[in-house]
This record gives sequence, structure tokens and C-alpha cells, in this order.
Amino acid sequence: MNQLLKPNTYKSGPDSAGRFGGFGGRYVAETLMPLILEVEAAYAKAKADPTFDAEWRRLLKDYVGRPSPLWSAERITEHCRASAEPGKGAKVYFKRDELNHTGAHKINAVLGQILLAKRMGKKRIIAETGAGQHGVATATACALFNLPCTVFMGATDVERQQPNVFRMKLLGAEVIAVTSGAATLKDAMNEALRHWVANVEDTYYCIGTVAGPHPYPMMVRDFQSVIGEETRVQMQEAEGRLPDVLVAAIGGGSNAMGLFYPFLDDPSVRMLGVEAGGHGVDTPEHAASLTGGRPGVLHGNRTYLLQDENGQILEGHSISAGLDYPGVGPEHSWLHELGRVEYVNATDKEALDAFQLCSKLEGIIPALEPAHALAHVLKVAPTLPAETLIVMNMCGRGDKDIFTVAGHLGVKL
Ligand SMILES: *Cc1c(COP(=O)(O)O)cnc(C)c1O
Repeated sequence: MNQLLKPNTYKSGPDSAGRFGGFGGRYVAETLMPLILEVEAAYAKAKADPTFDAEWRRLLKDYVGRPSPLWSAERITEHCRASAEPGKGAKVYFKRDELNHTGAHKINAVLGQILLAKRMGKKRIIAETGAGQHGVATATACALFNLPCTVFMGATDVERQQPNVFRMKLLGAEVIAVTSGAATLKDAMNEALRHWVANVEDTYYCIGTVAGPHPYPMMVRDFQSVIGEETRVQMQEAEGRLPDVLVAAIGGGSNAMGLFYPFLDDPSVRMLGVEAGGHGVDTPEHAASLTGGRPGVLHGNRTYLLQDENGQILEGHSISAGLDYPGVGPEHSWLHELGRVEYVNATDKEALDAFQLCSKLEGIIPALEPAHALAHVLKVAPTLPAETLIVMNMCGRGDKDIFTVAGHLGVKL
């Protein structure tokens, strides 16, 4: 599959039209086009300006708490070796982005985008959110920079995610419950795009993952790449070499792109993206867009989507509200077709088991999203030689998920 590209050019995307091979682009209404082009030009200018980078990195260090540690998960490693043949059982590391302020990786790209919005002279920020993590990160940055913030959230999600709705309000944001469609993330993003068109002059749209029209997938990836860049340096310090395998959970795909991107042109590094298998990818109840979907256009880009025979977008299902987006970032679709990244999946049940195991063995309660990544680590690590180095992105902490998990375990809180 890899013959489609010359070696070592996987980091080359996107082209000037925002395309990653046949994916990405900007499929937007004509009224939105000037906005997208304005963001693209402003981002190109900011990227070339060292003071922009310096300000963003200062915030990452002093406000977010970066660099996040690279943790040798010894008890998880031991656990995997216990069931492996002699000489097998990879060494597992966690990249600990759950220690970031607000508890996940989202803040990395939010701060970059809010700094950009300020440079563009924008006076208010809008965002979409599903589980509420991106909404909370955006509301946090808006509080810090004294910018009014409006978060669009599906009415179904508003019901399901009350603690995050309350957090956003405490942080001073306005939360708008979107009732169209299934009233979940897809609909919230549609509504945010509509609202943006109607409020062009003063508003910046802060997108939460590597989706949306160009330049968002590239821009969010660039900001999240701090995860992989740090991992490179930290692994060099810990082991004196590159990791062998990277593993990350895929919702829209931003934490995964952030970990993978700096290593894409290192052929020895194998990459595994773990989609939400829900009740199983052979049932309708999952959110594995790459495994179970096909290409189509949604939210301004062409990518793999969960859809029926008529091209109607299907609702994704996952135990994890952060993974049930029915699409995936276009760069992942491209890397999937090229065969550079392997996309696999873990079920609700497997994630729930990994969630509990990680809590007991490492003293780290993971978010349900990285629990999917861990579930896959638990499958592959025992099959790999003991000298193999795996880095898994622990992209969020599990405090937000304890009610869901308690419910599934039959515990009343
Ligand atoms: C939002 C979120 C995700 C899913 O988003 P990606 O863009 O795929 O990273 C995964 N994990 C956590 C902890 C999240 O908050």
C-alpha cells in the first residue's frame, strides 16, 4: 500500500487547497469562504512570527503545565508480560496529557486558536462541543483572555453532560442547546458553522479537532504536534532511541495526529489509531468511521463517514462521549488509504475493563477515550518482543467519566 507516496513524505500534507490526497479540502458555502481564507492567511502569518510561537509556548508551560511527563507504566508492562511467551511483552509508556490544565489535550490547540483570534482582532469566540471537553477548554481560554464565549452543544449532550455544562457557565460561557437532528455533536457543529456565517465581522470559530474545512485540520494538528515533539525528546532521554509503536484513541483524531505527526517520516515507527468499536463493528452501534464508514462530505471536508446507503449521516455510538463523532479528520483518511497508520478498534466493554485495570495498576484513572487506546495496548503488547517500546497517549483524565462507569458497573452514586 505504501507505494502511493515516496518514502518520507507523509508529513507533506495538505496541499494549497487543503487536500490530503483525495480528502480534506473546503466544501463550504460561498458566504463562508472569505472567513476560511482569512483564517488561513492569519494562521500562515502567525506561524512565521516567532513572537506568536513564544507566547503560545509560554502559556503551555505556565498555564497548562507542559511538558507533560512520559511515564514508564511498569505495572501495566508487567501485566502484559505475565500473559506473554518468554521474551515477549513490550515496554509501555504513557504520554501524560491528562495532567494538562482542564484535564485533556484540547487546551493545546484552543490556546493557539485563541491567540490567533486575538491577532485577527476578533471580539468573540464560538465553539462546538460534544461531551463538553472542548467547550470547557475554550471557555477556560476565553475567561483568561476576557473574550465572550458561546458554545453550541446538542440538547441531548446538554442533558447527558450536566457537570461540563455547569463548568462552562462557571467560566462565563453561554451554552446554546442545539435541538436539530439528533441534537448531538454533528448538529452542534452545523449550528456553529451557520452562526459563524451570520456573524462574520467579529467572531472566531474555535474547532475542537482535526476536522472542518481547511485550514482547521492542519492548524489543529500543528498545535497538537507538541505532544509528539515532546515524546521524541523524552524517549531519547529515557531510552536513547525512537519509540517503536505509538497508540492513540481516535474521535475526530486530534490527540492521535498530535502524537503521530512528528514521527510520520520515521519508517521504523508503527502507528495504531484506535476507534470506538461500541458494541462491535459488526453491529450498527459503533463509531469506527474508518473501519465501518466510507468517504463523503461533512462539516466542510471530504473524509470517511458513518453513513447509510443514501448518504445520510449515522449517529455514532460509543460508551465514550468524546469518541462518537460520525466522521474523522481527513488526514487520518489519507493515512488510512496510504497504509501509513493502522486503524483498529476497541469495544465499550474492552475500554471499561482497561479503565478499571489502569486505575488499579497505575493509580491513574484514565478518560474513557484513552481507555480504548489502552485496551488495544493490552491486546498487542503481549505479542511483541520485550525490547519493543510502546507510547500510548493518555490524552485525558477520567474524573468526567466516573458517573458513566459507575452506571455500567451497576453502582449508584
Ligand atoms: C475530545 C477528546 C477526545 C477525542 O478527540 P480527538 O480529536 O480524537 O483527540 C479524546 N480524548 C479525550 C480525553 C477528549 O477530551
